[in-house]
Amino acid sequence: MILDLREFETFPARALLQSRPGELEIEFNGLMAVKNAGLELKIQKSGEEYFCQGVVTALATLECSRCLEDFDTVLTGSTDFIVCAEGCHNKDGDVIDDEDYAYFKGADLRADLTELARQAIILAVGMKPLCSEECRGICSQCGVNLNDETCNCSNKLDDERREDLKNLSGQ
Ligand SMILES: [Zn+2]
Ligand SMILES: [Zn+2]
Repeated sequence: MILDLREFETFPARALLQSRPGELEIEFNGLMAVKNAGLELKIQKSGEEYFCQGVVTALATLECSRCLEDFDTVLTGSTDFIVCAEGCHNKDGDVIDDEDYAYFKGADLRADLTELARQAIILAVGMKPLCSEECRGICSQCGVNLNDETCNCSNKLDDERREDLKNLSGQ
């Protein structure tokens, strides 16, 4: 996902970048595939730096952390960063702060934003993707998908727990 700053004559400017097929191969727990992604940008120029506010939207296939079934969803995440010439903030020997940067080289005002988009998508996946808030998951005893089927394990388990508690409390 390449941002070409020569396309803009005035700022603030808006841009929409689309990922090319296969450009956003991401290895992340629960993320099975990213079909396509768009990065919407609001760009403000200040001196030699371009301040970008970005919103990533990605059509993705995730694996539910409860039932382990794949499901399609739209991920959205925001990413703010600064685009500048390579080494622009190292002139004074400044330590780089927490800001994210993307760089272009010399007179070529093209910056690759793929990595920033990738990070925003990973953040949007979160730690525990769910096919639905109400997902019942799979039975830890017999392994059936409790969204599709029911089983009797939970009753049995409850009985055992009650037994254990009784034993613990010495009744
Ligand atoms: Zn699920
Ligand atoms: Zn079961």
